[in-house]
Amino acid sequence: TREVHLKARPQGWPTPEDFAVVEAELAPPGDGEVLVRNLFMSVDPYMRGRMNDVKSYAPPYRLDEVMYGGAVGEVVESRSPDLAEGDVVLHQSGWREHAKGPAKRFRKVAPIEGVSFSVYLGALGMTALTAYVGLLDIAGMRDGDTVFVSGAAGAVGSIAGQIARQRGAARVVGSAGSDEKVAYLTDRLGFDAAFNYKSGPVRRQLAQAAPDGIDVYFDNVGGDHLEAAIGALRQGGRAALCGAISSYNATEPPPGPRNLGLLVSRRLTLKGFIVSDHNDRYPDFVREMGGWLRDGKITFEETVVDGIDNAVDAFLAMLRGENLGKMIVRL
Ligand code: NDP
Repeated sequence: TREVHLKARPQGWPTPEDFAVVEAELAPPGDGEVLVRNLFMSVDPYMRGRMNDVKSYAPPYRLDEVMYGGAVGEVVESRSPDLAEGDVVLHQSGWREHAKGPAKRFRKVAPIEGVSFSVYLGALGMTALTAYVGLLDIAGMRDGDTVFVSGAAGAVGSIAGQIARQRGAARVVGSAGSDEKVAYLTDRLGFDAAFNYKSGPVRRQLAQAAPDGIDVYFDNVGGDHLEAAIGALRQGGRAALCGAISSYNATEPPPGPRNLGLLVSRRLTLKGFIVSDHNDRYPDFVREMGGWLRDGKITFEETVVDGIDNAVDAFLAMLRGENLGKMIVRL
């Protein structure tokens, strides 16, 4: 079986040479363990942070060892009464073709007619839960709010904007890095307005898209997006700080927003969060999100790349913005 190892800690943008696909021995499962053949694995922005040797909420990947990440696979051998051969499971031992371990580390997921199991990595998985928790619990979005989402054509952002729509936002605005993505937001996802942040200053484009300002900002990007959003937030406005992908490959600390004085005068709240602290919301999320997906009120896109040999490329392509919706590696 094969797995992806981190060979060197990237400085700035990672390169393919920082990784290697390595042949590994596959021992049979022990008592209480299962062997899983992975079907889909997730590549996510937070993995870039784990490649650095710094303390964070997720421990750093070790050099010359397999990297970890979300994956969905099929049980091919079970020595546990809790899982049977053929069960499809979600787990955190991705970046490899096979995973083996105690059954309790693998959670069985149900098939949904007409939907790929990869949905448990995206629209019914971690990234969509992030959108749900960030928008509703962290930013406290209310009926009638004007909501701005950055990174809006990606896995988290595309769901955040659509949840805002379903939960009664008055206006939903998004930003993304290409004209095709902007068209996707307004034509297919029901955003009221969207702009390409590469074609002009965010501050000016946001002012055009939301002339009366915004009440909620869902931040996936940081940097000048965050500064522009602070400038647009109305009195009592709230921002959920979900990520800051514009600086993940920076070698110097990015400049901070220059307008933090507005937090005082406009009584703003900016709050960061990590989705894994909010797993208690999973049942509510699945109930509500499952309904929206079933009724066709929320749609989603996946960009699928085939084969473990292309997993690193898929990860790098995602950082460059080549994905629409969730980036998935199919094994
Ligand atoms: P996406 O599917 O959104 O993929 C990443 C996207 O980031 C790319 O498609 C690209 O789109 C955009 N991007 C890359 N560089 C820049 C840049 N310099 N400026 C603006 N946009 C850029 O990834 P996810 O949905 O998985 O993650 C989105 C954000 O949410 C990330 O910041 C991530 O770290 C965060 N996150 C946080 C979690 C938490 O618990 N707090 C959990 C999960 C994700 P484009 O073409 O538009 O540039």
